[in-house]
Amino acid sequence: MSDTGAAGVMQAGEAMSDGCLFCRIVRGEIPATLVHQDDDVLAFSDINPQAPLHVLVVPRRHIATLNDLVPADDALVGSLHRVAAAIAREHGYADRGYRTVLNCNREAGQTVFHLHLHLLAGRSLTWPPG
Ligand code: AMP
Ligand code: ZN
Repeated sequence: MSDTGAAGVMQAGEAMSDGCLFCRIVRGEIPATLVHQDDDVLAFSDINPQAPLHVLVVPRRHIATLNDLVPADDALVGSLHRVAAAIAREHGYADRGYRTVLNCNREAGQTVFHLHLHLLAGRSLTWPPG
C-alpha cells in the first residue's frame, strides 16, 4: 500500500512515513488490536492504556502533527472524531462521557509523529490534564 494520498502525490507532513510506527501498523507490518477500519481511518487499542478504554484513531495517510493539516484534510479530521464518537458509543460511553486528546509536539507529550486522536473512557478523567 502506498503512503501517498489518493492521487499518489506526497502531501504536507508525509515525508517521514517510511519508518513511522503507525504507518507500519496501517500497512499491517506491526500487529495491533483493530477496533475500526475504513478507507481513510484506522483505530486500534493503545498498547499502554491510560483508561479502561484507550483507543488511538489515526488517518491511514501519514500526517506528522496537527501543525501539518491543510484545508483538504478537514473532512479527514472530522472522520477521526466521528469514528472516536462511534467507538465510544459502541462501548457504552456516549452518555457517561469520554475524552478525546490530540497531542501536538514535545510539550504536549507527542511521542509518535503520526497524527492520532486518543479516545479515553471508563473512569473519571481529571481536569486540567497533567
Ligand atoms: P502520544 O504520546 O500522544 O504521541 O501517543 C502515542 C501513543 O501511542 C501512546 O499512548 C503509546 O502508548 C501508544 N503506542 C506506542 N506504540 C504503540 C503500539 N505499537 N501499538 C499501540 N499503541 C502504541
Ligand atoms: Zn505515519
